[in-house]
Amino acid sequence: MEPIAQALGVIRQRIAVATAAAGRPPGSVALLAVSKTHGPERIVAAAAAGQGRFGENYVGEALAKMATLAIVPDLELEWHFIGHLQSNKSRAVAESFHWVHTVDSIKLARRLNTQRPASLPPLHVCLQVNVSGEASKAGIAVDHVFPLAAAVAELPRLRLRGLMAIPAVTTVATEQRTGFHRLAELAEELRGRGLPLDTLSMGMTGDLEAAIAEGATLVRVGTGIFGPRGNSPP
Ligand SMILES: *Cc1c(COP(=O)(O)O)cnc(C)c1O
Repeated sequence: MEPIAQALGVIRQRIAVATAAAGRPPGSVALLAVSKTHGPERIVAAAAAGQGRFGENYVGEALAKMATLAIVPDLELEWHFIGHLQSNKSRAVAESFHWVHTVDSIKLARRLNTQRPASLPPLHVCLQVNVSGEASKAGIAVDHVFPLAAAVAELPRLRLRGLMAIPAVTTVATEQRTGFHRLAELAEELRGRGLPLDTLSMGMTGDLEAAIAEGATLVRVGTGIFGPRGNSPP
């Protein structure tokens, strides 16, 4: 079997096992294939194996791949932006992606809202939260999530779907769950305050089981599907 198809099978199986172990319904966890640094031919291989959602971190790199893939017949992919988004690149993202997982300020949200073309459906967004409170980490502080969520929910060209986090990396399963648990609690709190969130974007190759145990609805997997990455472009 094609190596990417085989690797996808392994990840799907890990997701299925973790979903069942958590007592959650089959199919309740979506898989986002993180294709940063990997060429369009690998995306085509994953798509041929039934993968439809792809995550990219760098705007220029993503647009180049989308342009290449636009000429492939019968290829309908859903693109998720999961990298840090600078204001000066927001227009390209608003025009070319279906989802943004890394909204972390009202300024960025307003720009995306203004720049989302009227010909497209609203842009799906998640707010990135710094659940581990590390100064070096991207995302908004836990205390600032509700006001930002309430403001984003008012923007007509954005559709607030949920929260995203990249907790501090650890291989200890109980510690992995702490950050994911915090994000799930926060989403529950926002729902209690009237915001209809349905997405928890959390878990990667090394910790997807812990994320699913805590309620992830979408896991972002790169290495587990495409193998190791080369040097990331800037
Ligand atoms: C690169 C990346 C991933 C994928 O990480 P792997 O460990 O390769 O699965 C997931 N989420 C974000 C935000 C990333 O930047």
